[in-house]
Amino acid sequence: MESPLPRVSYKVAKVEFYWNGLKKGLKGKVMLIRDLMNAIANIAILTLVSYIIIKIIPKKRTYVLSVWQKIFIICIASITSFVLMSFSVNLPEQVKIDMRYNAMILLLYYIGPSVFVPANIITVILRFSWGISDAAVYTLMLYITLSILMPLINKKVSTRFNSYASGLILNAFYVIGHTISLYFVYYDWKQTIVISLFNFLFSSCCLMLNIMFIEDMRVNIQQYLEKIEQAKSDYLTGLYNKQEFSSCWKKIENDPTVTNTAFLMLDIDHFKYINDQYGHLNGDLVLRQSADLLHVKGIEHEQIYRVGGEEFCIVLKNTSFSKQMAIAEEIRQMIETKPFILENHQTIHVTVSIGMATSCKAKDMKNLYRLADRALYQAKERGRNQLVVLDLAERELKRIL
Ligand code: GH3
Ligand code: MG
Ligand code: MG
Repeated sequence: MESPLPRVSYKVAKVEFYWNGLKKGLKGKVMLIRDLMNAIANIAILTLVSYIIIKIIPKKRTYVLSVWQKIFIICIASITSFVLMSFSVNLPEQVKIDMRYNAMILLLYYIGPSVFVPANIITVILRFSWGISDAAVYTLMLYITLSILMPLINKKVSTRFNSYASGLILNAFYVIGHTISLYFVYYDWKQTIVISLFNFLFSSCCLMLNIMFIEDMRVNIQQYLEKIEQAKSDYLTGLYNKQEFSSCWKKIENDPTVTNTAFLMLDIDHFKYINDQYGHLNGDLVLRQSADLLHVKGIEHEQIYRVGGEEFCIVLKNTSFSKQMAIAEEIRQMIETKPFILENHQTIHVTVSIGMATSCKAKDMKNLYRLADRALYQAKERGRNQLVVLDLAERELKRIL
């Protein structure tokens, strides 16, 4: 289609211009080198910003970003887009081509629409600091449309494809949108498509590099988290170990919201006999099955610790005394009644003695642990398979079951 505007007719595709320039002499070469340098600067800026954003994200398996963290990420992303625009390839009619939308794709894919949409809008507003032009207005319309469409596309794409394929597909949608807006500036399909093809090729390469970098960092973080988790856990039962139990004390002591604390010390009765009679491997099986039975209703995995060979401790926080008693008794009965399956499918019955120490207000965890130990000793003394409760304030036997 012929351009309705005479000023458009003199324009040629930038690519053609480069080739002509290259053929003709130095000017073309200088422009090509300058634009290549700009493109490399785009990649470097994006990589650096990806690094900063990943550093801001908490190193946890699951996390929810706080409002302030999100605002911070939006600010960084918007400033990044602004900086990227300074290193853009400038085409006629104030068309700027840069990797701005790569930053937006990474934000959408790795963090989500709550950060992507505001950053996208701020980016397009900042685009006007380069002057109000047709290209800037079309970019505004494009970015608003993409703010609505891209989260929906991402939702479909990210569940079906890996990060690289998702990145490519999202990039393709951005470039298609960009191609349409570019057409309304140049009114020349051939020129628009040539520019968009180069844009897609280059931005895809840049995006793949960034995704490779981010994925690599994510794998490292994942391995780091797994190592941390392994260091906290007991290899046999998968429960948290004694070291983690000690750090849990400190957390409770420093947490003003915690009241009504209880330690439940559990010790399998005559476990040595089980080992001697059925062998250590079967002893291990009994330990594993006992650990599973401790996950009763109202108890999270984080609250259960293996503190010795056949000794476990459960930490209860902000739990009423009656609930503490109910949990302890439920565990005792569960272990008593549930048949334990050995290697040869033989079943045996196991019992457990429980010492429970409670505290309403005081948070002297060391003494609470000592008291739970004493309660457990008393439960053993009184014939095993029972619960003995001591209160830290009263320091006397409250109730024996
Ligand atoms: P009580 O009723 O008084 O608690 O007697 P008990 O036999 O359960 O207690 P004791 O302390 O005499 O024996 C505990 C045994 O647990 C001794 C130890 O060999 C065994 N044990 C410790 N850790 C493990 C383990 O990881 N696997 C196995 N199979 N046995 C273990
Ligand atoms: Mg023991
Ligand atoms: Mg024992």
